[in-house]
Amino acid sequence: MNVCVYTLGCRLNQCESEAIADSFAQEGFAIVSERVPSDLYIVNTCTVTSKAEQKARRMIRKFCEQGVTLVTGCYAQVNSEELSALGQRLIIVPLSKKAQLLKLAKHINSCLLAGFTLDEAARSFGDEAASPFDYDAATFSYHSRAYLKVQDGCDNSCAYCRVHIARGEAISLDVATVVERALSLQRAGFQEIMLTGVNLTMYDHQGSGLGGLLEALLSNLSSSMRLRLSSMEPDHIDARLLDVLSDTRMQPHFHIPIQSGSDRILKRVDRNYTIEELKQILEHLRRVKDDPFIAADFITGLPGESEADFAQTRDLILSQEFAALHIFPFSPRPDTPLANPTDRVAESVRDERAKVLRAVGRTLFERYQSRQVGQRGEVILQNRKGGSWYGVSGNYLEVKIDDPPAFGREGMLVAGRFGPVVEGESCISFLVERQVV
Ligand code: SF4
Repeated sequence: MNVCVYTLGCRLNQCESEAIADSFAQEGFAIVSERVPSDLYIVNTCTVTSKAEQKARRMIRKFCEQGVTLVTGCYAQVNSEELSALGQRLIIVPLSKKAQLLKLAKHINSCLLAGFTLDEAARSFGDEAASPFDYDAATFSYHSRAYLKVQDGCDNSCAYCRVHIARGEAISLDVATVVERALSLQRAGFQEIMLTGVNLTMYDHQGSGLGGLLEALLSNLSSSMRLRLSSMEPDHIDARLLDVLSDTRMQPHFHIPIQSGSDRILKRVDRNYTIEELKQILEHLRRVKDDPFIAADFITGLPGESEADFAQTRDLILSQEFAALHIFPFSPRPDTPLANPTDRVAESVRDERAKVLRAVGRTLFERYQSRQVGQRGEVILQNRKGGSWYGVSGNYLEVKIDDPPAFGREGMLVAGRFGPVVEGESCISFLVERQVV
């Protein structure tokens, strides 16, 4: 029986989906992509933007025509009624029950043996206790690197966001369990783990903070294991965290949601840091890593954003030479303080600003790629196509290896040198010198 786990949104959702897919694979189900017809669909939704919600609705409608469809995630949590109306064979799974999906595969198998239909089986699950930290995948069907969820929820209340409304208060998985799970991923042969959470820098277990967690992980993991952080909110990046990032096993790739280069706008939307503080963090990251890949999120057209505020954002981006930008035009989210702002920016202005920043982002990315030519780096091999290996470097560039080593296998960590940018493809070439063991 085919099962498709379709994911929208952040890396935490991807991590949770992988664990759900893994639980089905272990029970003998075939895990397929959305392009293959499936008997059961699990849609893990996102509520960050209205675009993500639109896409969720479109895919849910399509999936409902093909099979039994369970819909969960942040969007399903805050708009269950709207989503329930999209199809007949649709079941909404609230966030409080989302982790129970990890037990659904076993439940379905026993129901089918007892003569129930798939629809009946899917509708009758949900009494088993499960915690938001039960997502503990041993295999990854949709990614070749391992994800490890260490945090959930958020105690901030940024005025545009409803993720914290859907996910609730910040909670953290205890240090010992994180270390134990990371060690079992290492034993399973993974050479890179990405740590994820709703607000990762809010990680806190008995005062350790994210820095303390990383210290514990690094002292237990082998010298060939690499760690990557999904994203870091600026307001909880402290000295202990910055110090531990200098360890060579921490990948030189950071993703920071900045949202605006104007202190006035940051204050307007209840973000808890200033541009000066942010600059100090960026300076430190560049001190501990050699030309790290620093990606940043920005929102254009936040309420009250004037031409002068936008100019400050653009200046910040240019002066900081980010390697990549993720630009989101502001869309008011229901149930947030900015649902109906009186100082709303015209959509045409918002979209024009997004267009300008996306163009800047493309130029900065190309510059970053070109700067890497001739530099040393490490790559995790991901997939083989037409005689070449493709992979992702420590500094988060997609690479193509035209002269692959015979010892190559998916998930392997190799060291070498970046070559020229590949013509007609968005990646950069890489020459492998050795395997990292
Ligand atoms: S830090 Fe702000 S934007 Fe991020 S999840 Fe928390 S409230 Fe939302």
